[in-house]
Amino acid sequence: MSSQGGRKTIIAGNWKMNKTPAEATSLAKAIVEGVASQFKGEALPEIVLCPTFVCLSEVLNQVKGSPCKVGAQNMDYRDSGAFTGEIAPPMLTAMAVQYVLIGHSERRQFFGETNESVNLKVKAALAHGLVPVMCVGELLEQREQGLTDSVVKEQVVKGLAGIAATDAAKVVVAYEPVWAIGTGKTCETPEANRVCGLIRAEIDSLYSGTNIGAGVSILYGGSVKASTIDEQMEQEHIDGALVGGASLKAEDFLPLIKGGAKRLKSQLVKTS
Ligand code: PEP
Repeated sequence: MSSQGGRKTIIAGNWKMNKTPAEATSLAKAIVEGVASQFKGEALPEIVLCPTFVCLSEVLNQVKGSPCKVGAQNMDYRDSGAFTGEIAPPMLTAMAVQYVLIGHSERRQFFGETNESVNLKVKAALAHGLVPVMCVGELLEQREQGLTDSVVKEQVVKGLAGIAATDAAKVVVAYEPVWAIGTGKTCETPEANRVCGLIRAEIDSLYSGTNIGAGVSILYGGSVKASTIDEQMEQEHIDGALVGGASLKAEDFLPLIKGGAKRLKSQLVKTS
């Protein structure tokens, strides 16, 4: 379902390195059943569940016939080869995975991801018809030094380097201030909206004359929970949420889907 400027409202759950296949099956089942029973006839945001690689199959089976989509948490940028332990884009598309998180701050922090590797992966995702959710965001020290805007702009510019406007329009960007991830500290909503707006403006200036920024979905991530979602979903530039901790239980995640549905509803009312 589309929203402002043709962009999608998206509520994505990043399950990180949690859940066995049996646990992932139960969680996906509970979310699918909750969506079916709580949102009868309502316009829904795009709901994306991102389990670990080993649980993709189970989760894909559970979401069959439901509005929920499935995303991977990472991938290699190459199609195949001697890269032990890696997962290639064609393996994901063969399973019917539709989304892939790219450059999550934990990948940047613990697994050496750089803006350059993020760029290669975003390009590979697009080439294979996967929707990349490109994660950007500043560290606490960078925010304290007043570097938030320049760090985030650089991540956007380098992440999208060499990508044509028609492809860039398909990228989802997640603004996730690193200091707000998994810490319980949410970025003040007006500030999160400001940075998401800055990302939109940067995309517009990168592709000047195309007005692409208006159509790119930009999510906020960082300790999103039931008590924060409504305010976040009322913002001009925040088109959804990328959620870690609060995506691990259906009873925590369903209210976030509700928040996304409210955003859609208010936009439908405004445009009707
Ligand atoms: C995340 O993992 O992308 C995230 C935002 O985590 P949390 O919601 O737990 O802060």
